[in-house]
Amino acid sequence: MLVLFCLPLLAAGWGLFGQVSGGDAAVPTPAEGVFYGSLSSSHVGGVTVLDPFAVLQVIAASKSFDVAWLVGALPVLVVYGLVRGRAFCGWVCPVNLLCEAVDRLRAKLGLRVTERVLPRRVKVGVAAGVLALSALVSMPVFELFSPISAINKGILFGSVSGALTLAAIVVVECVWGRRVWCRAVCPLGGFYEVLGRAGLVNVRIDHAACVHCDACSRACLADPEILAPALAGDDVIVRAGDCMACGACVDACPAGALRLGVGRPSAGGARAKGDTCDAVGAEGKGGEVSA
Ligand code: SF4
Ligand code: SF4
Repeated sequence: MLVLFCLPLLAAGWGLFGQVSGGDAAVPTPAEGVFYGSLSSSHVGGVTVLDPFAVLQVIAASKSFDVAWLVGALPVLVVYGLVRGRAFCGWVCPVNLLCEAVDRLRAKLGLRVTERVLPRRVKVGVAAGVLALSALVSMPVFELFSPISAINKGILFGSVSGALTLAAIVVVECVWGRRVWCRAVCPLGGFYEVLGRAGLVNVRIDHAACVHCDACSRACLADPEILAPALAGDDVIVRAGDCMACGACVDACPAGALRLGVGRPSAGGARAKGDTCDAVGAEGKGGEVSA
């Protein structure tokens, strides 16, 4: 995803657009390609696609509304609303990539950190606070300290303006605990958690296969507690909006009891309904799908 967003601008910087078009008069800009932009605002085949949280900040800051903003944000709202909001965090956000690099560094250095998990709901409050502050100071506040923008600007323009935020995230990862920023602080994560609570891509559990080793909870990048209802047999999927559908728990499970699936089976009743993933599938096909 990082390459996808960075390549058009880098290619323009290297003069590749000019070479492709071949004309002397052509101005080599990324706009000549089918895709360019950033995670906040991009253009796909001439259509503008906007980050809905950035749109909310602009609405709050400008105290105005343009229907074009809503049209631009709609594709993102629909995709993440249907798939799973925090799939953005698991699969798209470059901060996750940075944190995975820190994970590897920690493992290589044998750095053991006592995990001190912060309440994950804090980030929803941070998101609300960012919107309120944007209205108060009449500017989109998250853009001032967003590590996502910092990574993009660093790669594309060699900017070090966001280095402090990135350094703070790395230090906290090394001395405090895994994914503190993503789990508890990031307002974008808070926004996507709320947006994707009814997402259709879920982790499913086969209770009969589970040997209760807890490897999945230890691997979870969002918060181990989101797996608790499924592991306790109270649910057949990981339902929490915080699940990023990252699949780390699926990879970690030694018993093959977890898998990523599509659908929204009703909550509860797992044991009574046969205690297996097949029961989940049957339930989903039977029409008991809740939004
Ligand atoms: S429950 Fe599994 S898929 Fe969801 S965030 Fe945790 S590790 Fe990733
Ligand atoms: S890793 Fe697999 S077997 Fe172990 S507790 Fe989680 S679901 Fe059960």
